[in-house]
Amino acid sequence: MAAAPDPPPDPRRSEVDVLVVGAGITGIYQLYRALDAGFSAVLVEAGGGVGGTWYWNRYPGARFDSESYTYGYLFSRELFEEWEWQEHFAGQPEIERYLNHVVDKFDLRRHMRFGAPVTSARFDEASGRWDVVTGDGRSLRAGYLVAATGVLSVPHFPDVPGRGDFAGEQYHTGLWPSAPVDFAGKRVAVVGTGSSGVQVIPAIVGDVASLTVYQRTPNWCTPLNNAPITGEEQAQLRARFDEMCETLNTSPSGFLHPACDRATFDDPDEERLAFYEHMWRSPGFSKLTSHYTDLLFDPAANAAWCEFLAAKIRSIVRDPVTADRLIPKSHRFGEHRPPFVTGYFEAYNDPKVSLVDLGQTPMLQVTTTGIETADGVRGFDIIVWATGFDFGTGALNRMGIRGRRGIALEEYWADGPRTFLGLQTAGFPNLFFPGGPHAAAGNNPRYNGDQVDFVTATLVYARDHGFDTIEVDPEAEEEWTAMIDRGAMRSPSFGVASYYFGTNIPGKPRKYLLNSAGRPKLFKEMAKVVDSGYKAFGLTRSPA
Ligand SMILES: Cc1cc2nc3c(=O)[nH]c(=O)nc-3n(C[C@H](O)[C@H](O)[C@H](O)COP(=O)(O)OP(=O)(O)OC[C@H]3O[C@@H](n4cnc5c(N)ncnc54)[C@H](O)[C@@H]3O)c2cc1C
Repeated sequence: MAAAPDPPPDPRRSEVDVLVVGAGITGIYQLYRALDAGFSAVLVEAGGGVGGTWYWNRYPGARFDSESYTYGYLFSRELFEEWEWQEHFAGQPEIERYLNHVVDKFDLRRHMRFGAPVTSARFDEASGRWDVVTGDGRSLRAGYLVAATGVLSVPHFPDVPGRGDFAGEQYHTGLWPSAPVDFAGKRVAVVGTGSSGVQVIPAIVGDVASLTVYQRTPNWCTPLNNAPITGEEQAQLRARFDEMCETLNTSPSGFLHPACDRATFDDPDEERLAFYEHMWRSPGFSKLTSHYTDLLFDPAANAAWCEFLAAKIRSIVRDPVTADRLIPKSHRFGEHRPPFVTGYFEAYNDPKVSLVDLGQTPMLQVTTTGIETADGVRGFDIIVWATGFDFGTGALNRMGIRGRRGIALEEYWADGPRTFLGLQTAGFPNLFFPGGPHAAAGNNPRYNGDQVDFVTATLVYARDHGFDTIEVDPEAEEEWTAMIDRGAMRSPSFGVASYYFGTNIPGKPRKYLLNSAGRPKLFKEMAKVVDSGYKAFGLTRSPA
């Protein structure tokens, strides 16, 4: 494919060693590490402020499913000690405040530009540099391009006719406005019951005149079990900082939860029931990470837990038809990303709330006044689209990335992402994408942080050894990608429709977008690369 001509030189162009894209938790850390290592660096961000996910997803009820202190940065003990999280699972406002605090504490804001979406990034083979254009009409030349653009940063709307014709207000949870939305006395529709939908529903139910929930697939929701962090717990967190870092920095999923040492049927019925009750009351993801060891591998074990959950749903939701609709039938626990909830099932006991099963009555169109399904039209003042994201590759494929010979990233990845360590792809030298596809799974900042540390160490190594071009060996990429694809067949999500495989986006290739081998494999391979003197990266000097 012939390369299109470079854009004309821009007099305002500036040149940096490292250009970071994205002001989420990964990009902020990458900027900090690059500057700390002595590189000149700039960060550009499409949004108007710091936070990434926590800038865009400001819908009522948005909050962590990871424990706050395990999600925040660990690189500075001082930062850890001075920031007291208020809740075990912080809400969006507190998280956004935290990330802004980090940026100001480490004086990073002056290196950041907001309202600057990258629209084109071309590798110039002659100079070995990236020429980057942003939507605010500026250009930058960078030695290294680090796209920390997130895996859940491109909101997805379902392809329903008439969506643009709706005369009321409509919002996507992942593009929520900064001015508060007034739900008081409004007839509201929420479309989607994934992790965001189930957070927003109980948060607004008290305000609305009526709330209609459109559900395509029910999910195995379990209680988040959030609570304020007491003074005593704050003191303990400080005292045990080193121990906590050790656990988080080595845990396969980046959580603190201790693993269980028993399989489901090791326990007699009564003890198993007591364990299930204990799980139901335990925090967030521990229902996966501290559960019986065979939960995800033995169908009978999974079915026993699902039976317990179905009974819980029936005991909370008074209307048996609604309860039944809320119980998943098409997948088992853990095959989808499990949402964690506060007051979600209880919301359906409010007579203002009704549930539409899109499996039975598909959505036909959005009209000027509401939503039409197979059984008629319902009128609304507000529609909330909680319909997810183009996961994994969405942002990278939309950035206008062109590598050697002008090859387009979205074409190179037409059959799914091809990566080494979820960090680089062959033919796109000096481009890294920590926190992108194929990284790992679990508590995101922990393995995204591992990747940022690795990228920074790689850049330092190249600088110290007189190299300036870092380009993964196609064979290493082939091996890593094949390993991910093989492992995906053993993933709990393999046989089901799941955004982990991109199946929520029409036409997207069905490829696993996480790292099926997990964080330990990532550690191991990174260490191997370092030990071999970065052999998998053909380090060279650019011709210029
Ligand atoms: C509602 C919600 C709740 C979540 N809760 C958790 C949780 O509890 N625990 C957990 O581990 N993970 C959670 N996640 C996943 C979450 O995305 C990650 O934890 C984390 O935010 C990833 O950080 P990041 O910096 O890699 O990406 P992001 O936070 O997504 O930041 C990427 C940034 O890049 C910017 N960007 C993208 N493309 C461009 C471009 N072309 N030009 C300029 N800028 C661009 C975006 O605007 C965005 O600000 C949640 C996600 C959502 C949506």
